[in-house]
Order: sequence, then structure tokens, then C-alpha cells
Amino acid sequence: MASHMQLTSPARVESPGWIYQAAIIVAAASIFLVDTFTSLETAIAVLYAVVVFASASFVDRRGLLLVSGVCMLMTVASYAIVHGGTWHSGPLIRALISLCAIGVTTFLAAKNQQATQHLSDQASLLNLTHDAIIVRDMSGYITYWNLGAEQLYGWKPEEAIGRRMTDLLESTLPASLESILDQLHENDRWQGELIHTKRDGTRIVAASRWSLHRDARGKPIGTISTNNDVTDQKTAEDALNGLRAELAHVARVSTLGELTASIAHEVNQPLAAVVVNGEASLRWLNRPEPDLGEVRASVERMIASGRRASDVVARLRALARKGTTSRSQFTMNDLVEDILPLVDREILRNSIAVSLDLERQPLAWSGDRVQLQQVVINLVMNAVQAMAGVADQERRLSIGTRNLVDGNRAVVLQVTDSGVGIDAETANELFKPFYTTKNDGMGMGLSICRSIVEAHGGTISASPSEPRGASFEIRLPIQHEGHT
Ligand code: ADP
Repeated sequence: MASHMQLTSPARVESPGWIYQAAIIVAAASIFLVDTFTSLETAIAVLYAVVVFASASFVDRRGLLLVSGVCMLMTVASYAIVHGGTWHSGPLIRALISLCAIGVTTFLAAKNQQATQHLSDQASLLNLTHDAIIVRDMSGYITYWNLGAEQLYGWKPEEAIGRRMTDLLESTLPASLESILDQLHENDRWQGELIHTKRDGTRIVAASRWSLHRDARGKPIGTISTNNDVTDQKTAEDALNGLRAELAHVARVSTLGELTASIAHEVNQPLAAVVVNGEASLRWLNRPEPDLGEVRASVERMIASGRRASDVVARLRALARKGTTSRSQFTMNDLVEDILPLVDREILRNSIAVSLDLERQPLAWSGDRVQLQQVVINLVMNAVQAMAGVADQERRLSIGTRNLVDGNRAVVLQVTDSGVGIDAETANELFKPFYTTKNDGMGMGLSICRSIVEAHGGTISASPSEPRGASFEIRLPIQHEGHT
């Protein structure tokens, strides 16, 4: 296994027991006895190298040198006891070979100790971070669990290591484990929010970042995940979203109040048509020879008018309804179609010419249709109000939609007017809450528009329009397949 996966939690580094240490001492003594009191013609003292190597796992660097020194002394002592005063080249060479073997082994064991120490230092560095860092092997079993993980989840490393992470933390994943692992293998990383259960049973929301670790040949060997508890943040966000939805609802209802005249007209017109067609049907029926063909045509017109009125009412009820987001598929052109009947009357009353420049093949987009209708109504109503102050020039409202397909794919809706206009420098100020230049203005419309658009991952911007007026643009990104 590659070295970086050998990270071991400090709690896993255990000193060998006393039996192990005693066995090493017995081995050293046995080597000495065999070397000194038997007449084997082999370099028995070479075996001291094993003693040195084995002791490296529980002594430090100085201890290692000490063990090595003692082994060398014992080698020399055995030689002196057996061959002292006589000169034989064979035993001397064997003793020298043994001393060399002990020396080389000491050197290698010291290097190995140093490398292990280095790794262990690096591993304990990970304990300094507040993040929970967890390493898993490819089967999902935990192999490393830092102090941050212990503090966050409550399990000690020795309790967590060897367990499957998803079982231990009873993880609830935002997507299937297979699809997350697919992404991880494709990009070498993944991030998202998970729900985990702590040792005391409390559930937390964890922002989690996973990185895939590969060995030198590129074969995946494990996953490192870094987790942070974002439960409080999520709760605050939810509360804020609730407030935002509440405020958006209030603003929507007050916009509807402003639009009462248009709405009344929009509903009244089909109702009047129903009455006219009803009367016509009666006339065709009351003839000496009833004309059933004409009656059928009138009744069909009545049905169509009735449907139109009920469509408008349904749209109004949706706008006035209280509630948080509900996603559906629609296009920017659908939005324009949705809102025009509601603002038609205001446009007419202010003698505004409307030009539409709609994308021929609008891309479908997924979001909260009612909230985005509110954004477009706000932009159009602001445009109408900005043009109400312009008496001497043509009042023109242009609404355009288009797809952006190069680079960042997005759908775009633009509302441009020829009203009093805005300054390029202060264009961003308009979106701040309570910014208004109107006597009866609340200054919340554009701020709510921005939070709705941003909650959909998009942007809204304002700029001066040439030769006069202002232009507002909403840009909503088209997510990649599989992301929402
Ligand atoms: P309110 O309409 O209550 O003032 P908004 O947030 O909708 O609140 O608008 C904030 C301000 O932005 C307006 O008071 C106005 O000064 C400016 N504004 C918005 N739309 C336009 C526009 N189309 N042309 C010129 N100024 C605009």
C-alpha cells in the first residue's frame, strides 16, 4: 500500500507488550551463549541484526544506538572469550561481518524510524484542524479518524477505525451512493451536504468534501473526507428563507393590489363575452327555425371565454397563495405570456407601446414559476412607473428572451424601458433593501427580485438603456444534467 495511506490514528500506535520485549532480550542472550560456548563455524552474531531491527519498534533513536552498541560489545566479548590471545583469520572475519551487519541494520532501522516519525508527525498535524478528517479504504472501512472527527461525532479513533463510515454515522446522502461514487471516480472529488448521526444520537448536517486517493499507478486506494457541522447555519438559513418567503408574499399581494384595475378588466372582459354570446345563442334559438350551427359556435365562444377568465383567476390565486418554493419546468417565454395579461391594463392606461423579441426555441428551465412571475411583474411595473414621468417622448417597453448557449449556458430575460433612466454608477444600489426614489415606494421590489433570482442560482442586473431609460436583465443558468 502506498505510504500516504499508512496514516494511522495515534491511538492505533501501540507499544509491543512486555512479552515481546522479553523475547528480544532472551534472543540476544541466546545468541551470545551460542556464539560464545558452541564451536559452530558460522557468523552466529549476524543474528544480532534481528535483535536490533526488532527493538526499533519500541525504542527511540538513542535506545536503538544503545541496543546496537550492546550487540556489538557482545559480539566482541564472545570473540575475546573464545579466541582471545590466538590469531585465526576465519573467526575474526566472521566477527567483523557480524559487526558490519549490526551497523548496517542499525542505520536502516534508524532511517525507517525517522520516516515513521515523519508520517506520525504529519498525522498528528491533522489533529490540529477543527475539521473532522476521516480516511476510508475502497470498501468504505475507516482507516483514519482525527481528533476533529472525535470531537464532532463522539467516537474515539479506536472505536471508529475498522467500521464502515456510512453505517457508523448512519449517513443520509443527497443522492445514491453509487452516483456519488461515480462522480468521485470521474472527478477525483465530490462535495455535498450529508446528514450524520452522532454518538449521542443527534442528527447533524455536515458539509462534506471527499477526495479520492490513488497510488503511483493511478489505482484508487482510499477516500479522504473533510466534514464540518453546518447544522446551525442550515437552521438559520431555513429561518431566513421562511422570512424571505413571507416578505415576498407580502410584496406580491401588495403588487396585486396595485394591479386590481388590470385584473378586474382581465376577468371582466371574458365574462362580458360570455353574456354577449349567451344572448346571441338565445336569439339564434328563438328564431322560427333555430340555427343550431350558430348556437354551437356561440356556445364554443362562451366556453373559451369562461376558460380564459378561470385561467386568470387561477394565475391570481397562485400569485396570492402563500407558500415556499415548488419547482416546475417552463421557459422564459412562458413567464412573459403568464404576466402580460396581468399588466396589460397598466400598459394601456399609460399609452405604452410594447415590443416583444422572444426566443424562437426557448430552452426549458426548472424553478419556481410563481416566484419568477413576481420578478417579471416587478420589473415591468417599475418600467411602467419610470415611463409615467416621461410625457414628451415615445413610451416603449421591450421584453426580450434568449438562450445563451456558448460558454455558461443560461436563459435570459430582458425588460427595457424608455423611462427616466438610471445611472450606471448607482445601478447596483437599486437592489438594496429600502432603496427607493418614489414618494410611496417601499424599496423592497428589486431587493426581493434579487433574492428570488439568486435563490435560483441566477443573477439580475440593471444598466442604462440608450438613448433613454433603463434595462434590467435576469440570467438563469442551465444546470448540467443530474444537478439541480
Ligand atoms: P420601489 O418601486 O418601491 O421604489 P424597487 O426596489 O422596485 O422599489 O425599486 C427601487 C428603485 O429603483 C426605485 O425607487 C427607482 O428609483 C429605481 N428603479 C427601479 N426600476 C427602474 C426603472 N425601470 N427605471 C428607473 N429607475 C428604476
